Amino acid sequence: MSYAPQPLPNQSDPSAVFQTILESLPDPVFVKDEQHRWIYVNEAFCQLLGHHRNGLLGRSDFDTSPEAEARVFWAKDAEVFETGLPNVNLERHTDLHGRTRIIETKKSLAVIGGRPYLVGIIRDLTVLTEIQGELARANQELERRVSEQTAELSRSNAQLQNMAFFDPLTALPNRRLLISSLERRLQAGPVAIFYLDLDHFKRANDSYGHPFGDAMLSALSERMRSFRQFSMVARVGGDEFVALSADTTATDRLSLGQLCRSVLEQLSKPFVVDGIETSISASIGVAVAPTDGRNVIDLLQHADNAMFNAKERGRNQYAFFTAEMNVRAKENVDIERGLRRAIRAGEIEVYFQPLVNAKTGKVVGVEALARWNDAELGQVGPDRFVPIAESSGLIHELSHLVLRRALRLAKLHLPADQRLCVNLSALQLDRMTLVEDVRRALQETDFPASRLELEITESVATNRGDRLVQVLESMRDLGISFALDDFGTGYSALAQVQRLPIDRVKIDRSFITNIDDNPRSRSLVEAMIRMAHVLDLRVLAEGVERLSQLRVLRELGCDEVQGYLLGRPRDLQEL
Ligand code: C2E
Ligand code: CA
Ligand code: CA
Repeated sequence: MSYAPQPLPNQSDPSAVFQTILESLPDPVFVKDEQHRWIYVNEAFCQLLGHHRNGLLGRSDFDTSPEAEARVFWAKDAEVFETGLPNVNLERHTDLHGRTRIIETKKSLAVIGGRPYLVGIIRDLTVLTEIQGELARANQELERRVSEQTAELSRSNAQLQNMAFFDPLTALPNRRLLISSLERRLQAGPVAIFYLDLDHFKRANDSYGHPFGDAMLSALSERMRSFRQFSMVARVGGDEFVALSADTTATDRLSLGQLCRSVLEQLSKPFVVDGIETSISASIGVAVAPTDGRNVIDLLQHADNAMFNAKERGRNQYAFFTAEMNVRAKENVDIERGLRRAIRAGEIEVYFQPLVNAKTGKVVGVEALARWNDAELGQVGPDRFVPIAESSGLIHELSHLVLRRALRLAKLHLPADQRLCVNLSALQLDRMTLVEDVRRALQETDFPASRLELEITESVATNRGDRLVQVLESMRDLGISFALDDFGTGYSALAQVQRLPIDRVKIDRSFITNIDDNPRSRSLVEAMIRMAHVLDLRVLAEGVERLSQLRVLRELGCDEVQGYLLGRPRDLQEL
């Protein structure tokens, strides 16, 4: 069955039918004559303009719209009348009430009865353009944010780049940049690697505070950078630096040694930071490529081993890498591992060595000395493992163990008229909890504080700020006394330690060794004893092995003596 279109109802006036259709269109429709006057408008058009139909027919845009808009409408009308071609225009339309709409008007020519008329149909795009506006704004906002973030990204990228290769504090190259430069340098020929570590930096940092430490590091970096013999100085750790020799620097030992000496000299010159004058020394290890290694990792490791050797030899020194150092470094690793285990297992023993009154020969006390006999490593001396305990941080646990064990044994076996001497490591004095630890150990073992003497080394006593005085004084308040150990090796004037609450000095055994057959040695010790007595300090001489030494010391008025002659370190019960 085919579909036959139904004709419109047969009415007497067909134009009335079309008018009805036009009136029911939701889009505004209008017809203008050549004078731009409306001769027909539909209902939607009236609504758009906000006018009654009677107010529109026979009128033109100039009667209903602002002049500027009307002129645009007219111009477009004229185009159609002149060319006979339709046009489509996007226009702004402001109605009587001042509301603005965006409209699209399609205009075309219709010739009715031989006369030209303009037929217009309008679409209200206001809602659409609002959405579009919104979209455009959102788009703009998005673009703005994207560009902002891009800028931010490229900024932080640059920063990251910087952070990836430079140390923020000193602005020196960091380990990464060092490694890549060294890799390149190795291809080019011989190069010397200087591994430099500050001596006791942690102490300065802890005594004066971190801003002070930072200022010191910056100042030191400046000094290092000023050496033209270095092509690069990098900061590779807290207080560790690596320098590479410049291409033109000779890599023979003589020139390198000279360079090291002048670096050590420069670095140890005093600084003033925040009105505080201080100085610090460094230890340097040197490895030379290709003799001491052909790859970056080995070379840095070897220079580091040499640096450790310089530290062991007393700091403020330099050392060249040797193959034995590798063996030593490997041993150090074994010792650290073994020591950690031994401390945890409580396997560190304490021996006691008698301290004797030089005049009466009576034992007045004992010094506690750590002993470690490892199943695998055998007997390891404290001269070997104490520095390793210090550099690995094990020293606190170790000392805790030794102090308690010594106090407990002394409580049990030490005659009541004798004192107990215990060595204190430099690093322990930096621990805030030291005073409390010692107080508690005394309490728990019920050993009288008045019989405890702590030994601190001379270098510790002279290199430190007021905090040391505070720490010592608060322990002194508990009743503890102090001895200055290894006296004479730190090259300090006695007057310098005068402000410390010290009761006794222990003259290092290196001064005692030749006292019985070397007059110079004898007068040196004599001067030390006199000075100490003037300052109201008691004097103990260490390392007395022969009767002849003891005789001299008696003559010189030394108060106490310690050494193999009077007794080796051993179990307290055997003393
Ligand atoms: P020090 O405090 O100077 O201890 C004295 C050292 O001299 C001891 O060595 C002792 O055995 C040795 N000695 C005693 N009399 C003579 C003698 O007549 N001739 C010779 N040649 N040596 C003698 P030791 O026990 O090997 O200790 C070495 C160093 O290790 C100590 O030197 C001390 O600085 C450190 N140390 C030992 N135990 C501890 C500890 O528990 N804590 C800390 N922080 N350091 C310790
Ligand atoms: Ca000692
Ligand atoms: Ca000593």
